[in-house]
Amino acid sequence: MNGNNVRVHAVTALSEPCKLEPKFDFLGDPATELFGTNVFSLKIMKTCLPKAVFGSLKDTVETGRPLDEGIADVVAAAMKDWAISKGATHFTHVFYPLTGLTAEKHDSFLMPDGEGGAISEFTGKALIQGEPDASSFPSGGIRTTFEARGYTAWDVTSPAYIMENYNGSTLCIPTVFIAWTGEALDKKTPLLRSIQALDRQARRVLKLFGHDTVSMVMSFAGCEQEYFLIDRKFYNNRPDLVLAGRSLFGAPSPKGQELDDHYFGAINDRVQGFMMDVDRELFKLGIPSRTRHNEVAPGQFEIAPLYEPANLAADHQQLTMTILKKVAERNGFACLLHEKPFAGVNGSGKHLNFSIGNQSQGNLFDPGQTPHENAQFLVFCAAMIRAVHLNAHLMRAVVASSGNDHRLGANEAPPAIISIFLGEELTNIFNGIVNKERKSARENGIINVGVDTLPAIPRDSGDRNRTSPFAFTGNRFEFRAVGSNQSVNGPLAALNIILADSLEYIADAIENETRGSQKNFNAAIRKILKEIMEKHGAVIFNGDGYTEMWQKEAAKRGLPNLRTAVDALPALTDNDVVSMFEKHKVLSRAELQSREEVYFEQYCLSVNVEANLTAKIGKTVIFPAAIRYQGELARTCADLKAVGYTFDTNTLDKVTILVKELQDSIAALEDAIAGKNTSPAAVQAKYFLDDVVPAVGNVRRAADALEEIVADDMWPLPKYYEMLFIK
Ligand code: ADP
Ligand code: MG
Repeated sequence: MNGNNVRVHAVTALSEPCKLEPKFDFLGDPATELFGTNVFSLKIMKTCLPKAVFGSLKDTVETGRPLDEGIADVVAAAMKDWAISKGATHFTHVFYPLTGLTAEKHDSFLMPDGEGGAISEFTGKALIQGEPDASSFPSGGIRTTFEARGYTAWDVTSPAYIMENYNGSTLCIPTVFIAWTGEALDKKTPLLRSIQALDRQARRVLKLFGHDTVSMVMSFAGCEQEYFLIDRKFYNNRPDLVLAGRSLFGAPSPKGQELDDHYFGAINDRVQGFMMDVDRELFKLGIPSRTRHNEVAPGQFEIAPLYEPANLAADHQQLTMTILKKVAERNGFACLLHEKPFAGVNGSGKHLNFSIGNQSQGNLFDPGQTPHENAQFLVFCAAMIRAVHLNAHLMRAVVASSGNDHRLGANEAPPAIISIFLGEELTNIFNGIVNKERKSARENGIINVGVDTLPAIPRDSGDRNRTSPFAFTGNRFEFRAVGSNQSVNGPLAALNIILADSLEYIADAIENETRGSQKNFNAAIRKILKEIMEKHGAVIFNGDGYTEMWQKEAAKRGLPNLRTAVDALPALTDNDVVSMFEKHKVLSRAELQSREEVYFEQYCLSVNVEANLTAKIGKTVIFPAAIRYQGELARTCADLKAVGYTFDTNTLDKVTILVKELQDSIAALEDAIAGKNTSPAAVQAKYFLDDVVPAVGNVRRAADALEEIVADDMWPLPKYYEMLFIK
């Protein structure tokens, strides 16, 4: 296979030996010393802040108490000096708008000194609060309704850091983004609020278990990030990858992932160089990157850090995506974070490992050593079961995007049905609690347990079931439906709040039952566990989530099967969801409505971009290539006829049919695009889903069939095998 000039050029360039100079001296600069060097951490603050100021700030960081504004000027001055010593010239409030991306606007430290010179200045006010021009960020009507501007405010629980560039550095301050009237305009605010809600309810339950002085309960998250890496020379010649993040065209590679020879395979040298570069950058930012390996698909990889408190983990996750893209670029790669960059090849997800705990009790999803600890573990576990059953639609909604639609429901990612994998052992224990009255011990293979005589629950009980969207994996739950490109803030906030709500329900029930007397405590626990299993056990499913049978079984159990983002998003304003969010003071109805609207808009915007691109590439890139080949075949036919031969027109016929199909499908797509209107975002999204998405698919089908037949040297776009296999 030759390829056209552009492709030949790319492939030839890639055949040259890699010329990257080694960048790192791991001996002179060990990772332990590098770790956190670009973070304004408590450790650094301790050395540069007056003792009282440091104490006050540390208190805020550790307990979430409001920041004492009196110390802001001192902190700001120290932060500026530190940043300048690291080469920073500018600072920025980093925030997380509803687009799921990261937003920043840089300001320099320089202030004119009035005598023609300049000094560097950074006030407490500038540290605590910023006022970006908020009008161009999506707010779903909040700002127009309330006529409010937005401001950013420093989130003290997430440390400031230095972002390096080859030309200088920038001080980055993680912030929330709020309207002046108080409504959240970002993805961080609800996460912080949900962490507080979870803390309140989890502490209530712990108190009932007799822990009188309990420290703040937090959720923890460890996010496994999957991504594709392709060479930039191919990437830059694929307008679909550049503008839509996924290939809108591309026939399958003759070799795909079916040989299973990539997963955990030896890592390609150049890729490993990239991974080391990434790790170095992450270490400097204090991000505890830990695991790296090849994933299932060719060209697909994974990175996972050690877990951290949810808010920090979420910020670090977002930074990890930024670093992956940035470092890829300087290594001559493009890092694709889209959920489905290549049709017919595994997509990418982001497994969100989730647990809750505190300093005094440790991980509350960790089965204990004693019956008492185990009872507590079962209560927290039951709370999660109830939470997921009652809020399966919400969990589906917080992972809804047009990108993730390509993944959920395909035979490689969890299905769109939200269920829990508990593992046989734990399921049996829960079933035993339900069946106690009716069945005696160990009959029917069920272990019969009383709360006061619970057996030790083995630590790593559940085996690995890759088909479950929400799996218990020994001491944490793994939410696997999150898309590779998505912010984890939404999913994390949802998990916190649904768990908080169920813990509240359980605390109420136990308090009601015992009325202050410890005597009835065990009976009360048994009763609530039994009730939860009877009402919500239907959400537990340990089988193969990819099968047709599960689709039917799930329907019988009444579990929602929301196949697309358009079906899923309305759950955000479901009455029960709204009351839950309002009760726990995480988001108001107006805030939830605004989010739903923004996400529908995002859906429309991305499908619209894909549709326009498909039409344009189809018309101006693929169609011309196809007719050139068609012309060549036709000319050959005429030439042969002129000298008396007959020409087998089989190929010409096929090309002619496909060219017609391509033309017609492009015309139909253009009609579909023109048919969109200015109706509310939800209505428009439905139109895109029903009318535009299939039209995009039809153009692709014709184009991909042409790719299989048109002369290779005439094919204009880098092919799948090139992008996936040549590095
Ligand atoms: P696997 O691919 O086998 O599921 P990985 O090692 O790739 O596992 O990733 C597991 C992730 O789960 C890591 O980010 C890890 O830090 C995180 N994790 C481990 N224990 C907990 C916990 N208690 N709470 C939250 N996350 C956890
Ligand atoms: Mg993993």
